[in-house]
Amino acid sequence: MKNFISDSKGYYGEYGGAYIPEMLRHNVTELGDIYFELINSNEFQTEYYDLLKNYAGRPSPLYFAPRLSDYYKANIFLKREDLNHTGSHKINNTLGQILLAKYMGKKRIIAETGAGQHGVATATVCALSGLECIVYMGEVDIERQQPNVKRMEMLGAKVIPAKSGSRTLKDATNEALRDWIANPEDTFYIIGSVVGPHPYPDLVAYFQSIISIELKQQLEQQTASDTPDYIIACVGGGSNAAGIFYHYIENKDVRLIGVEAAGKGVDTNLNAASIKNGQTGVIHGSMTYLMQDDHGQIIEPYSISAGLDYPGVGPLHAWLNDSGKAEYMQATDNQALKAAYRCARLEGIIPALESAHALAALDIMTFEKDDKVVVNVSGRGDKDMAAYIDSLNLNL
Ligand SMILES: *Cc1c(COP(=O)(O)O)cnc(C)c1O
Repeated sequence: MKNFISDSKGYYGEYGGAYIPEMLRHNVTELGDIYFELINSNEFQTEYYDLLKNYAGRPSPLYFAPRLSDYYKANIFLKREDLNHTGSHKINNTLGQILLAKYMGKKRIIAETGAGQHGVATATVCALSGLECIVYMGEVDIERQQPNVKRMEMLGAKVIPAKSGSRTLKDATNEALRDWIANPEDTFYIIGSVVGPHPYPDLVAYFQSIISIELKQQLEQQTASDTPDYIIACVGGGSNAAGIFYHYIENKDVRLIGVEAAGKGVDTNLNAASIKNGQTGVIHGSMTYLMQDDHGQIIEPYSISAGLDYPGVGPLHAWLNDSGKAEYMQATDNQALKAAYRCARLEGIIPALESAHALAALDIMTFEKDDKVVVNVSGRGDKDMAAYIDSLNLNL
């Protein structure tokens, strides 16, 4: 069995693996046995890169942000994943996985979604491919993310409410896994981040690695060196960060910074800082950092940003953290809101609330004036206007 960054069993150090019920073994093994060969075939590569270019609109620009640079006294570059079709980096992954599903002859696609961004990206590629699409979404999320629910429905997907537990992302993921167990033959499960059992973290990181492939070329063109001093990305499950870190992981000249959601504060019980506050445990099929109480029960995560509101983190990041290959910091709701307003007012770019956490790191860190700092703007802020409008009255 081959792979990209993990070892042959899907481990990053002690993290990752495939901790799954026997009932899922067949599905996961089938995918694990063939994904590497499929993805590397000429046919797949040609079709995938054509879709990234002509359907998703890649390459996404690398934009030198002059007014943010002036403000922070460093050279700030924004990688504009917000300009992709469907508004975030998620399309890079769903385009890759829908091709895998097609090549494997699967007819029915299932997915989980929290804020609805991955659901929309999945419904989009299902419409593109003419495949049936079922999206599991927590009942609570369905209520607070109506525009995305309507988008998925317009695209032809069926949205099924998850009614157990806190009725949010983790519960939707459980429902999707249950569906997959019940329908092993015809169904492909499109996971939305670098989480889940092997081979998902490995293949999702690969599909997102297009971000750092482009970044290297764009930096080389714009600055005559493909190596920045810092790369900063927000971390929910960790897929946009995995993508922009990917081709720099072994480059010791670059500091890779992941930013988790500190919610109301890392010392409160309202945050989603799994690396800072979690302990080793198993969630959704992989060993990783997990927010849990003394009895191993999952602590409900909280963030103003629905896309960062997950109690675990991809095993790749647990390993990058422990090995010091990447560093992780935390930004609160208010720090993210402030950073979003700054980016909007100084550059005319309204970032997604998730991406605003990455931008908030600019306020937390200090730089030398020649430093080249790349921030991944993982998505656009249209979906977050309600939260931004509410925060106008806050004394930020
Ligand atoms: C889903 C989402 C995220 C968080 O997911 P990762 O897997 O950590 O990248 C970040 N930004 C945006 C815009 C998202 O939609």
